[in-house]
Amino acid sequence: MSALTELYQEIALCRQCEIAKNRNKVVPGEGAEGADLLFIGEAPGWHEDQQGRPFVGPAGQYLDELLAAINLNRQQVYIANVIKCRPPQNRDPLPVEIGNCRQWLERQIELIRPKIIITLGRYSMAMFFQGKTISKIHGTAQKRDNILYYAMYHPAAALHQQSLRQTIEADMRRIPSLLAQMETVPEAKPESQQLKMFEV
Ligand code: URA
Repeated sequence: MSALTELYQEIALCRQCEIAKNRNKVVPGEGAEGADLLFIGEAPGWHEDQQGRPFVGPAGQYLDELLAAINLNRQQVYIANVIKCRPPQNRDPLPVEIGNCRQWLERQIELIRPKIIITLGRYSMAMFFQGKTISKIHGTAQKRDNILYYAMYHPAAALHQQSLRQTIEADMRRIPSLLAQMETVPEAKPESQQLKMFEV
């Protein structure tokens, strides 16, 4: 059994949050164990909670299309969420839930060792780009400890707001060249000395 599969079993036993009581299935994440690209969304919705798989509803279908636009499919990348249980009525994740679940995402990152972590939406962006605003930093990347962090809008936002479609699609199309060039991207300086994030 792989270390990631063992981790899924641990996640399935987690009952730290109230929302664990009402979940149908826990949604740890799925994809290639040694993926170069790790996409991190927000939280499971109704479809994900039914199936125990991330991004399988309408936003997931759109994510599949975005991946296909760069000649990838979901088996070639890894897809996870900030929290692993569905919040009731799809409300936003609470800070306590994000805090409790953080350990699982950190262990997934350690095991997968992705080259690029792509944050989808505000909640996953906030974990890796503290204090930033998605409208300002989407489509930009920052390298820390040899991992490139790249912020994108959430696919569900683009589904609901037609004007974001072109933006999210353009941001997705930058990923292959980012991956190819990542050795040449300089490491980010500590926040106080940082002038501007690497623009791609
Ligand atoms: N939205 C998310 O953020 N994650 C999912 O898994 C599905 C929809």
